[in-house]
Amino acid sequence: MVQPLTNRAKQVDAKPLSFLERLYIPSILRGMAITFRHMFQKKATVQYPEEKRPFSPVFRGLHVLNRDEEGRERCTACGLCAVACPAEAITMEAAERQKGEEHLYREEKYAAKYEINMLRCIFCGLCEEACPKDAIYLSETFAPANFTRKGFIYGKPDLLIPDPVGEPEAYAQAQGPNEGRQPSSARTS
Ligand code: SF4
Ligand code: SF4
Repeated sequence: MVQPLTNRAKQVDAKPLSFLERLYIPSILRGMAITFRHMFQKKATVQYPEEKRPFSPVFRGLHVLNRDEEGRERCTACGLCAVACPAEAITMEAAERQKGEEHLYREEKYAAKYEINMLRCIFCGLCEEACPKDAIYLSETFAPANFTRKGFIYGKPDLLIPDPVGEPEAYAQAQGPNEGRQPSSARTS
């Protein structure tokens, strides 16, 4: 006889069903009672996307490239975020600010191209920590589903926050309900 590895083995009861059990009505009634009871209990699910669960205050979602209070891009394409990124998800190309572009870019250099591969990103927030210009932060939204890998490569047009001067409503909406979390809005350096 084979010795069981544990003492949790249970002998299957193979006794014949009684008349009531063969009717299945008690079992059906028991099942319906369970269903009925759950109708009045607090639901574990939410009607997403109409209804959304509140995020944790430490939630880190989709990246935002920030502007200063005059609407100029803060990023100076220094590359520190790319170096800090453990997933090597960030790539960029730097460009020199030209005369007459002072209202667009805060520093003499700016990111002509800035991309984040959201399939690589682990949302650790190290890019936000590394940035000396408060130019990038992780917001409270998440990257929506997509059908192609290419759709998860977010470029500057996807990441750049709307202009707070020209589009104040869109800017406030992009900041999200917990705007105090982002360090950039509180500092002017
Ligand atoms: S959140 Fe982390 S993994 Fe994602 S881009 Fe920033 S540093 Fe890289
Ligand atoms: S986001 Fe910040 S760290 Fe990254 S390149 Fe721009 S200024 Fe540098």
